[in-house]
Amino acid sequence: MGRPEKINLLRLIYTTMEKIVLGIFTHPDDAEMVCAGTLSLFRKAGWEVHIATMAPGDKGTAEYSREEISRIRKKEAANAAEVIGATYHCLEFEDVYVLYDRETINKTTAFIRSIHPSVVFTASPNDYMVDHELTSMVVQTACFASGIKNMEVDVPPYEPVPHMYYCDPMEGKDILGKPVIPSMYVNISGEIEVKEKMLARHESQRNWLLTHHKIDEYILAMKRFAGERGKEAGVEFAEGFRQHLGHGFPQNNILKEILGNLVVIN
Ligand SMILES: [Zn+2]
Repeated sequence: MGRPEKINLLRLIYTTMEKIVLGIFTHPDDAEMVCAGTLSLFRKAGWEVHIATMAPGDKGTAEYSREEISRIRKKEAANAAEVIGATYHCLEFEDVYVLYDRETINKTTAFIRSIHPSVVFTASPNDYMVDHELTSMVVQTACFASGIKNMEVDVPPYEPVPHMYYCDPMEGKDILGKPVIPSMYVNISGEIEVKEKMLARHESQRNWLLTHHKIDEYILAMKRFAGERGKEAGVEFAEGFRQHLGHGFPQNNILKEILGNLVVIN
């Protein structure tokens, strides 16, 4: 008798939870580097997918003005999102100056409330750039604050607090060179071409590296790292994640519940 009750309870949770996932990072191309394969799997599972960046990537150039490169990179990010039918948003902060302050927290909270995702992916709390680390902290607070009434935010609160996952830092290490070990991997072997196609849409960055390195380092580095994570997970290509399990956040691993055998627990 216990088993049917359990199934009914699960069904209830899935029907009341909105199938909306958000990947929110610092720069255009960050999401493509660390979680595009997983976002593609969510899309295939029928989820609405949003990709957002705190900044427009306005320092990612050696030739254009801030205005020009911002316009170019936002267009590239929207083109990349389009590959999996996702929607791109930019919160219009500035590269190198993503801060943990009142304005940033309020604006990010308003944005997350307007999307009201059930699952959020963001930057690793330990990463090569402080911009990435502060994005991670701001998003953590904005998710926690999604249901808090007395904030200086126009968009009404929503509940429950979304499930939150940290993606891999650049090259899987912290600033002291220590490996950042994922607590789970998502097998993206079937999505690697989609991930590559999305990343290739960031032409300004790809061409910049191509000029410097004389090889397609942009795509090669992504595949190399996804291959390393894949090897650790016992599959061809993988993306690594750690779930935010602090007080107030959901404790169940919804990634595993949605993607099943494609999630390999470390
Ligand atoms: Zn970045």
